[in-house]
Amino acid sequence: MTNYPALKMLIGGEWVADGGDGTMTVSNPATEAKIAECPKVSSEQLDAAVAAASEAFPVWAGTPGASRHKILRKAADLLRERAPEIARVMTLEVGKPHAQALGETVGAADLIDFLAEEAKRQGGRLVPVRGAHLLQQRVTQEPIGPAALFTPWNFPINLPAKKLAGALAAGCSCILKPAETTPACAQMLVECFVEAGVPAGAINLAYGDPAKISEHLITAPAMRKISFTGSTAVGKQLGAMAAQGLKRFTAELGGHAPVVIGESADFERTVAACAATKFRNAGQVCVSPTRFLVARGIYDKFVSEFAACASALKIGDASVDDSVDMGPLAHGGRVAAMQDLMGSMGGEQGEIVTGGSSPEGAGHFFQPTVIAGPSPTSRLMTEEPFGPVAGIVPYDDIEEAVRIANSLQYGLAAYAFTADLDESHYLGSSLRAGMVAINHFAVGSPETPFGGIGDSGFGSESGVEGYLGYTETKLVTVAKSGT
Ligand code: NAD
Repeated sequence: MTNYPALKMLIGGEWVADGGDGTMTVSNPATEAKIAECPKVSSEQLDAAVAAASEAFPVWAGTPGASRHKILRKAADLLRERAPEIARVMTLEVGKPHAQALGETVGAADLIDFLAEEAKRQGGRLVPVRGAHLLQQRVTQEPIGPAALFTPWNFPINLPAKKLAGALAAGCSCILKPAETTPACAQMLVECFVEAGVPAGAINLAYGDPAKISEHLITAPAMRKISFTGSTAVGKQLGAMAAQGLKRFTAELGGHAPVVIGESADFERTVAACAATKFRNAGQVCVSPTRFLVARGIYDKFVSEFAACASALKIGDASVDDSVDMGPLAHGGRVAAMQDLMGSMGGEQGEIVTGGSSPEGAGHFFQPTVIAGPSPTSRLMTEEPFGPVAGIVPYDDIEEAVRIANSLQYGLAAYAFTADLDESHYLGSSLRAGMVAINHFAVGSPETPFGGIGDSGFGSESGVEGYLGYTETKLVTVAKSGT
């Protein structure tokens, strides 16, 4: 039995159960049953959160890095302790299998640890002086100011943790608006930071209508940094708004990751890794491999073995069955998007090899789906599906594979599988993406930057970059008195 918490917002250090703007319903995507009513923040409550973040900013920014580090490390430990319970809530809210939810939560604790360490390490630098009259030139990274953080539902602990830890480690106060469908995950995470000792006002949490909250916070003069993860269309809107106030902006947006599979790749291992990664979180992952470009000599075999792996996956309600491999999509809108895409199949758009529809019954389910032979200009190969759908295309030479891989405006992740060293170097340098992984799929580790180029956004989170993104550069230059 999962204990779903009573939903509350956090404004200026007070947990608030009543939103001034009514409530919204949170439901289980596997059953469509209501889980809870969630308070929606009012404009006045948002103003109070902005005022609290502004007041807390100098206090938190003035707290020594070593102390911020200790508090954040404690938050990470609390998150680890509570991970099994939080993972159950995550499965209820987004439907992902328990093992994936647990892995995400424990991984988020590691992320917080890494970013917390940066609060101790980032000391700036001394620059040699040019004139004899100068005593010192020091360059430091200063916290930008109050940060507004907007996160989606697909990784409801990892994504808020990345943003909160980066902001708090750097000394920024913050207001988090999580996705409408995953408030409890965000709340349980924020509780860890609060209980670890983040002072009142330095961390705030608000639920409600995304467009209303983002516009309110981005246009509030006191908010100085905006970080958003979500779709490219919304990212562009928020970026334009942030630019009006010359606010620092980080955006992790959509992707349509290519996977180039060469003839020399370890075939069985590659097929298994591709199927496991493609259908993780029902394909609702910004770095999900989506466009499989396979050397013609192994194409037919790859299609049939990949489809066999896909059709063997058990789909169902992971909140009551731990043996489920793939849960539902996050909401009905995602299922409708998959059905719309399937409506265009056939001919140039590709053929359905397995899947292609929703099973009977309640819940936002869609079968693991494999499409063979879509043209590189088909809908599937050009529009991000953000669901359990994979397109597989044959290529004749490696340059053709790279041309297809690089043909979109997206540039988040790209992958390749090959045992040929020359090919591996060529692919590593010629695939156009913020992150390229060769012979594996793990692009998201605490120590390395995570981010895209082109329509996939800009700026990076996690790694040192995840800390520096909440800072701005300051020079202090000192001359001898009287010179
Ligand atoms: P959606 O655009 O309605 O919502 C996606 C997320 O963005 C939600 O969490 C929502 O709260 C937030 N959002 C929407 N409008 C916003 C606004 N004006 N201000 C602030 N936040 C806002 O789409 P959806 O159908 O729920 O999700 C599918 C699309 O979202 C996909 O195309 C995918 O690219 C994108 N997405 C990307 C990521 C990612 O990790 N980059 C994660 C989730 C969704």
